[in-house]
Amino acid sequence: MVMLKSWRQLKFRQRLVFLLLFAVLLPTVALLVTQYYSLLDLRGKTRLAYENSLRQTIQQIDGNLEARISEIGYARLQSFDAATLDSWNGEKVKAQLNEILRGNPEIESVFVLSSESNNLSYTAILSQTSGYREIKSESAPNEAFFKTPDEESITVSFVSVVQSPAASRSAFYFVQSQCEKCPPPDKTTNEKFYIYRPLSDPRDIQRLRFVGISLKQNYVVNELFPEAIRLMEKNDGQNQKGEIVFAAFDENRRLVFSNNTVSNNVVPENLDAFEASATLRQTFSRWTLAASYRDNNIADLATNYFLRNLLLLLLIVGLIAAGILLTLRVASTEVDLAAAKSAFVSNVSHELKTPLSLIRLFAELLETEGVKPEKRGEYLRIISKETGRLTALINNILDFAAIEAGKKEYNFAPHNLTETVAEVLENYSLVLRESGFDLQTDFSEKLPLVSIDRDAVGQAVLNLLNNSAKYSLDEKYITVKVGRGANGTVQIQIGDRGIGIAPGEQKKIFEKFYRSGGASDVHNVKGSGLGLALVKHVAEAHGGSVSVKSQSGKGSIFTIRLPIKDNGSG
Ligand code: ADP
Repeated sequence: MVMLKSWRQLKFRQRLVFLLLFAVLLPTVALLVTQYYSLLDLRGKTRLAYENSLRQTIQQIDGNLEARISEIGYARLQSFDAATLDSWNGEKVKAQLNEILRGNPEIESVFVLSSESNNLSYTAILSQTSGYREIKSESAPNEAFFKTPDEESITVSFVSVVQSPAASRSAFYFVQSQCEKCPPPDKTTNEKFYIYRPLSDPRDIQRLRFVGISLKQNYVVNELFPEAIRLMEKNDGQNQKGEIVFAAFDENRRLVFSNNTVSNNVVPENLDAFEASATLRQTFSRWTLAASYRDNNIADLATNYFLRNLLLLLLIVGLIAAGILLTLRVASTEVDLAAAKSAFVSNVSHELKTPLSLIRLFAELLETEGVKPEKRGEYLRIISKETGRLTALINNILDFAAIEAGKKEYNFAPHNLTETVAEVLENYSLVLRESGFDLQTDFSEKLPLVSIDRDAVGQAVLNLLNNSAKYSLDEKYITVKVGRGANGTVQIQIGDRGIGIAPGEQKKIFEKFYRSGGASDVHNVKGSGLGLALVKHVAEAHGGSVSVKSQSGKGSIFTIRLPIKDNGSG
């Protein structure tokens, strides 16, 4: 109840501010805060999304590698005729192995095993470097197989094939294994890469048959991997511009491969320096493929994204705030205007009533008999003065109405400005002098003709004179000067030693309905608040301007400037 009462006591403007605060500003702030936190959250998710994207890319490369290896297996091993092994014929086997090795430089060696029983097996190997060798073994195939470290490594890897549960299901196996005893090749690791094609059920150790190839490490690293990456780029449209750097690391976290050949960037030799990494599950199961964005790190990317969004958010909130302020301003101007309009009505009524009652009073006095002749003249002068005031006021209101309706028209013609002003003074100086004003004029400067609407300029001058008289207290002193102004203008200056105008008001007084300081604290003079608005309109319609120089308590000088241009000379 108390709150309601105090709410009613608030001024409209204060209520507006409160309403905006609660209805708009608070939700906006709430929005800002929640959006900020959700952006923070989004930043984390963006990072994850980038990381996931890198990881997916790695998986695609893994898939491409597998597909390529199956292709190689098929292309090189499918043509091997298993029937050759039915009864071991060294010449035929050698010819077939030769067929496979020839013209395929990616193959290091090709080999075959055929065990005919528990204690009879044949093996043959054709290597790019050491040629053909064939062994007949009369012990179990997995015990006595090949003799050299290379051959031993084949045994070891094949045992893993035999033991693999998936062994009986696929046509080709890829095995990556490390040959500890093998002399390390030019690269850092002594990894071996085998593709097998089983020619019998691998689980049947008694009658085991297979043919296989080992791939050169050089080929794997310099061709197979880059090819798988290129395929990913082509299919996926990703990394077209090579923004992602890939690198493979071996079990000991040593760098074995990188695609970073296009840039001078040094590849981090450290797996941890990469943004995402994953073990190649399908193929090179002993290696880890790592990926990073070449020029950006994910944290920066996510932060940039976050900052961009934050900026957008601030922009939106800024716009909302600007909107609120604008609304507040417009509403407050409307309130001012409404207040000014209602004051205008009461002021004008008063302005009309005063001269009317005076006119009526003195007219009635004149009608009474026995009025002395010298009084008659005085009464008539008062009636005439008040009629002049009424006319001026009504002219102002009519002009204002015409301006508001956009129907005000000016009739320009070349005139002598000094004469125009002097004419107004001629009619008005008597009124001023009667009210006790000392009127000083300076019309000495010779001016060219200027194109003006004589009546409108006259009315503007009258308004200014009227104001000077209205807003003067004890010092009744008015000056009127017509002469040249700056920049090819002519000017009319009307000065007084009246109450003056505070600096903060000096612009506003030219607005329609505006009256200084709510009128009452500054002066008690009645008025419509239209006079200066009309002066301004007239001045601007002539391509000129009106300005004021004033000091509170000291007086004011109003200046109307009109351009000379070429208008007056014709
Ligand atoms: P009105 O005089 O009818 O109020 P105007 O538009 O002529 O309307 O003037 C607007 C306001 O400017 C006045 O209310 C008054 O406060 C101020 N003003 C105008 N002329 C003068 C002057 N010569 N000296 C001091 N104040 C003035």
